[in-house]
Amino acid sequence: MQETGSISIHTENIFPIIKRFLYSDHEIFLRELVSNAVDATQKLKALASIGEFNGEIGETKISISLDEEAKTITVSDRGIGMTAEDIKKYINQIAFSGATEFLEKYKDKDLNNSKDQLIGHFGLGFYSAFMVSEKVRIVTLSHKEGAQAAEWECDGSTEFKISPAQRADRGTDIVLHISEESKEFLDKGRIRGILTKYCKFLPVEIEFDGKKVNNPAPIWTKTPADLKDEDYLSFYKELYPEAYEDPLFWIHLNVDYPFNLTGVLYFPKIRNEFVPSKDKIQLYSRQVFITEEVKDIVPEFLTLLRGVIDSPDIPLNVSRSFLQADGNVKKINSYITKKVGDKLNDLFKADRKAFEEKWENINLFAKFGMITDEKFYEKAIKFALLDSLDGKKSTLEEYKELVRVNQTDKNSQIIFLYTNEPVKHHSFIESAKKRSYDVLKMEGVLDSHFINHVEKSDKDIRWQRVDAEIIDKLVDKGEAAASILSEDEKTKLQDIFKSLVGENTLSIESLPVDELPVLITMPEFMRRMKEMAKTSGMGSFMNENPYFNVSINANHSLISKILKADEQTQTRLAKQAYDLAKLSQSLLSGADLTAFVNRSVDLMAAE
Ligand code: ADP
Repeated sequence: MQETGSISIHTENIFPIIKRFLYSDHEIFLRELVSNAVDATQKLKALASIGEFNGEIGETKISISLDEEAKTITVSDRGIGMTAEDIKKYINQIAFSGATEFLEKYKDKDLNNSKDQLIGHFGLGFYSAFMVSEKVRIVTLSHKEGAQAAEWECDGSTEFKISPAQRADRGTDIVLHISEESKEFLDKGRIRGILTKYCKFLPVEIEFDGKKVNNPAPIWTKTPADLKDEDYLSFYKELYPEAYEDPLFWIHLNVDYPFNLTGVLYFPKIRNEFVPSKDKIQLYSRQVFITEEVKDIVPEFLTLLRGVIDSPDIPLNVSRSFLQADGNVKKINSYITKKVGDKLNDLFKADRKAFEEKWENINLFAKFGMITDEKFYEKAIKFALLDSLDGKKSTLEEYKELVRVNQTDKNSQIIFLYTNEPVKHHSFIESAKKRSYDVLKMEGVLDSHFINHVEKSDKDIRWQRVDAEIIDKLVDKGEAAASILSEDEKTKLQDIFKSLVGENTLSIESLPVDELPVLITMPEFMRRMKEMAKTSGMGSFMNENPYFNVSINANHSLISKILKADEQTQTRLAKQAYDLAKLSQSLLSGADLTAFVNRSVDLMAAE
C-alpha cells in the first residue's frame, strides 16, 4: 500500500532557502549523511549494551558508493534503521519543524555568512542532501523485530512518497540522485577528498570504493596513560602527512567539567618568524571535523600550535561575535591557556637544559602569548628565558640578580642592556664589556613589544639598547669622570661642532680616553617612538625628522688636537671625526660619503 501525504510547513518551500544559505559549502552534505549513519550505528550498539537489542550486531562498516552512470551517491549503514512510522516522525515532522523554527528565528537576518553550521543544530542535516540532489530516496529496515522495510522518496518539493520496500538487511541506504548543477560530486577523487577532510576520525569504520577512509580510534579519544611517545608522533604524521619535522612536545587535553573537551596540542618548531602554515589546529565535534578556523576558540597565540581539539560544547551555529561572548568558549580559552602554561612550566622544572634547547623554537610563541594574555604572562615570566650575548640563558629574576650589583643606576633602577643587531652595535657592545656589563640579545620580531611589556610590568628595571646613549649615561651611576677641559675650551668646542650637527643635540662629555672622539646615539625613547610610528604607518613622517645625540669626548687626544689647530684644520678634523661617528652608525651615504672618502685621502696624503 502506498501512502502519500503533504509535509506540514508554513513556508512554501524550504529547499531554495536551504540551498541559498548553505551555498558556500555544498560539500558538507556528505559529512551530514555519514554522521547520521554513524549515529544510527552507535545507537544500535547503545541499545545492545542495555539489552534493548538482542540480535547480532555483526559488521557495522558504513559504505559510500558512487555510480557515475546512474548519477547517484549512496550512503549505507547497518545501524538502527527506521520503520515507516520512524520516517514520518524523524524525517518529515522533526526536520520540517526544525526548518520552520529556523526560518522563524532568522527571517530578518542575513545568514549568508553562517554557512554550514546552522544545519546540524536545527536537525536539518539530512536535508542538506537537497543541496546537491534532484531526488533523494531512503531505503531502510528497522532493527526492531518483525519490522517491515520502507522507502521514502522526495524530489525537493514539499511532497514526499512513502511505501513498503524490500531490504534484506537491517540498516539504511540514503540514495542521492545528483542534480545537473552538482555533477562535480560524481567524481571519485572529489568524494574521497571530502571524506578524508570530514570523516577521517569518525568512530565507525567507513569504506569508499573498497578502501578504508578513517581511523575510528584516534589518540585523543584514548587515555594518556595508555599512549607512548611513538603514538603521539605517528598521530602527528597522520594529521599532517606533509610535515617534515617532528613536533617538540605535546599536551593531551582531557576535561569533562564544566565543559567537555579532549584533544592533543602539538608544539611545532617555530623559528623567528610567522610563516602561515597550512598545518593548523583542527576542530572536531564528536570526531566529526568541523573547521580549521579555531581563532575564536583558542587564544590567538595558540593558533601557532597544531593538533586537534574535540568538543561537543562549542556552539557551532552562531556568529563570531556571539562565539567570543559565549561562556563555554571563554572557559575553554582559559583552560587551554592554563594547560599550555603548566606544560611549559613542567618542562622547565623537570629539565632545565632540555628546556633551554627548546627555547629557541618556542620563544616566539611564548612571547606572543605573554604580550597578548596577562594570565599567561604571569605564568610564563617565571620560565621565559633571556639570552645573553655570551650564550648564557636566564629567567627574568635570575637576570636581575646577575646584573643588579653592576648595572644599577643612581635612581636604583636595574638597567637591562640589549642589542637587536650585535654586528652593527659592535663598538657599543665593546664599551659595555669594558665595564663588565652584560648585554642581552633581543633579535626576535616580537622582542621590542616584549621589552615594552616587561618594562610595564616590572618597575625595577629599564631596558636600554646599547646604542641609545654613551654607555656611562645608559647606566648612569652619577659618577662622571673629571674633564680635562676648561669652560672656555668647552664653549669653543661647541662652536666648532654646532654647525656640523644641525638639529641634533650636542653635548661635551668626559669619557674615558679610549672611547671614540665623537659618538652618535639615538635616545631609547626616541627610537621606540619611531618604531611605533613605523608599525602604525606613520614611518615616513618620523624618518624625515631624525634626532640624535652627538657626544664629543672631551678627554680624547684628537679633541685636544682639534682645539689647538688652526681654523682650517680644525674644521676638517671636526668634520672627519663627526663623519666617522656617523659611519659607525651607518648614517653616512651619498655626497657626504664621497666627501668623507676624499677628505680621508687628502688627510693621509698630508701626513
Ligand atoms: P539530526 O541528525 O540533527 O537529528 P537529521 O535531519 O540529520 O537531524 O536527521 C533527523 C533524524 O532522522 C535523526 O535524528 C534520526 O532519527 C533519523 N535518521 C537520519 N538518518 C538516519 C539513518 N541513517 N539511520 C537511522 N535514522 C536516521
